[in-house]
Amino acid sequence: MSAIIGIYSNSDVSKKLFYGLNSLQHRGQEASGICVYNEDGVVLDKGNGLVYDHFDDSSFERLSGKIGIGHVRYATANKPHVYNAQPLLAFAKGKEFALAHDGSLVNDEALRQKLSDDGAVFQTAIDTEVILSLVAKSYDGDIVEAIKKTMDKIKGAYSVIMLFDNKLVAFRDPNGFRPLIIGESADGDTIIASENAPIEIIGINDKVRDLEPGEIIVVDESGLHSYHHGDVKRQHCIFEHVYFARNDANLDGVNAYNFRRRCGEVLAKEAPVDADLVIAVPDSGTPGAMGYAQESGIPFAEGLVKNRYMGRTFIKTTQEERELAVKLKLNPLETVLKGKKIIVVDDSIVRGTTSRNLIKRMKEAGAEEVHFRIISPPVKYPCYYGIDTPSRKRLIAANYSIEEIRERIGADSLAFISMEGMLSASRLEEDVFCKACFDGNYAVWPEESDEV
Ligand code: AMP
Repeated sequence: MSAIIGIYSNSDVSKKLFYGLNSLQHRGQEASGICVYNEDGVVLDKGNGLVYDHFDDSSFERLSGKIGIGHVRYATANKPHVYNAQPLLAFAKGKEFALAHDGSLVNDEALRQKLSDDGAVFQTAIDTEVILSLVAKSYDGDIVEAIKKTMDKIKGAYSVIMLFDNKLVAFRDPNGFRPLIIGESADGDTIIASENAPIEIIGINDKVRDLEPGEIIVVDESGLHSYHHGDVKRQHCIFEHVYFARNDANLDGVNAYNFRRRCGEVLAKEAPVDADLVIAVPDSGTPGAMGYAQESGIPFAEGLVKNRYMGRTFIKTTQEERELAVKLKLNPLETVLKGKKIIVVDDSIVRGTTSRNLIKRMKEAGAEEVHFRIISPPVKYPCYYGIDTPSRKRLIAANYSIEEIRERIGADSLAFISMEGMLSASRLEEDVFCKACFDGNYAVWPEESDEV
């Protein structure tokens, strides 16, 4: 899980990349990086920490240039090393290849092994380097052909942005697992990013659209060129709309805010309960709680105070640290909760840590009853396409029935939205979603016959 951004402009892009990455910070807080082209060639600056922590005023001078790309990396427990920060840079065949990636390959180990056997040396532990290595290896004077050859080999989720030969290049896997959006301005600037927020904030938005699954874009001095490769089978990650994307995201025809709000409305119909107040687990639970409140006629209230400075960074390895993180992040508002029957709406239950901890403390704050309502179905399967979910043995819904979960988290009642209910909230006519974390249907998987 990460965010990528690339800008091709008539003017300096360093600050635009900086602000753009800042608006995508929710997609990754572990590391940030920017790479641009200028008179000195390729300039790369990356490191651990938030965008605002890593870059300062002196960065902009060094990173001045009219074409650039950037990346923010999600905090995972196992690979926090700075050498895994992106963009990655390779020098091959007399060229510089800079590349950043959001997603996750399912066959990267086999490819890494094969490339290593052929003499490649890797400097990071991430699958992004496999993509970079394959593009550089396949390059024979035509970057689009090199990307097509790479796409024939890599399997899984990849939204990629590249800086190559004074060009801005991007490509998206044929399933479109992870989002990728392009904006163009009337005066010839182009921006490509994981979500629309930076496109709107920077204002390169006269023409905005999703990259198609399997689409390759090259922007150079002759303009914007689009190519298509691979068998398209849409598998847009539905968890982007449930939790991951910003509320203002418009991804592949779905607005995240409307989706979350409608899920709350559907849930109020599917799982009604008598109560005094509806409250949200902020922020991704908020539109769902508002939808539930509107549909049920039960008033919406704020019952949890959120610590704005923790972000989503607090991904810790031990259960004890996770419990403390929930406490630091959310505190019950006794004055609202005391003596009340409460409906709490959240976007998902993964391990059950958040819900168990919150219910206990809401009851300590005087809540008479706590009814938990979740705007997604139970998460039963790990994601192999870029969302950081734990293994099956840590997913509470993979191991316990809904009644057992209710008991373990201490709720007076517990309900999840149905799969059909959630799909109806997208208002799309076709089911174009990857829902593997809920139903275990993985559209892309390595096969013995795969040629590496
Ligand atoms: P848990 O406490 O493990 O049950 O996780 C559920 C809470 O974590 C929900 O409040 C979600 O908003 C949030 N969440 C869901 N998926 C993720 C994820 N992949 N990484 C971090 N937080 C998540």
